[in-house]
Amino acid sequence: MRTSDRLLAAANFDALISGSDLPRLEARALLEHASGRSREWLIAHGDEAPGADSAARFAELAQRRRAGEPLAYLVGEREFHGRCFKVDPAVLIPRPETELLVDLVVQAARADATLLELGTGSGCIAVTLACLRSDLHILATDTSEQALATASSNAARLCPKALAAARLQFRAGDWWSAVNSGERFDLIVSNPPYIAAADPHLAQGDLRFEPANALASGDDGLDALRVICAGAPLRLRAAGMLFLEHGFEQGAVVRALLGAACFEQISTLQDAAGLDRVTTGRLPA
Ligand code: GLN
Repeated sequence: MRTSDRLLAAANFDALISGSDLPRLEARALLEHASGRSREWLIAHGDEAPGADSAARFAELAQRRRAGEPLAYLVGEREFHGRCFKVDPAVLIPRPETELLVDLVVQAARADATLLELGTGSGCIAVTLACLRSDLHILATDTSEQALATASSNAARLCPKALAAARLQFRAGDWWSAVNSGERFDLIVSNPPYIAAADPHLAQGDLRFEPANALASGDDGLDALRVICAGAPLRLRAAGMLFLEHGFEQGAVVRALLGAACFEQISTLQDAAGLDRVTTGRLPA
């Protein structure tokens, strides 16, 4: 019997999970989504019969997952820094290594600092910062209106007070075109696209389904990082800081880009896997 037919005939929730040809944790996450039941409920009631609607929804999701669609897009959410973010194919799926970027900004930002995030995607960086630091004034930008809609809905759910107080604002625009002349910030943060356009990883796994312009950036993956580094000094106040996520082999070149843009105190930090992931620098006082 085909997997989908087997699932439609499954006698109970446990049989849906074990018959899905997916890792158990993934199958359970899809079943939670398809049935509207919690993980705890499914564990306690695995021997009960699913409704026909739940089984059909699960069979369809499991089929799409077997065809490679990212789990986060199928269930419409991903956890980041302890909060649940809505995600859809217009935005990059938040990665755990990006939590380092958030932690560094939280440590470095003085009280009431102004912060610019370039390329916010799901909003996971800006929204988490707004939740953790109610004193910050944050402007988050993206070139994609669809991404901004997703980021705004995450903000409305997770930090409504910051939105109401206009301490967190969103604006459309491609890199520096979103910033008005004369606007200056204490901190700028970005997780830009940084993969080389011909990198074979783009044709593998979850990356195939994510927005290409959030992942790839020119022949060497550095186009966006070059634009950001070159433009940041014009938009930062004296002693302002820049925080950039980048690829694990790009630490030296990003340090050089920051050096060429007159940043000082340049350093690269490693993610939980021990890989170069974030480079920071500070403008002279
Ligand atoms: N860290 C992501 C990956 O390698 C890439 C994200 C990005 O380009 N900003 O899958």
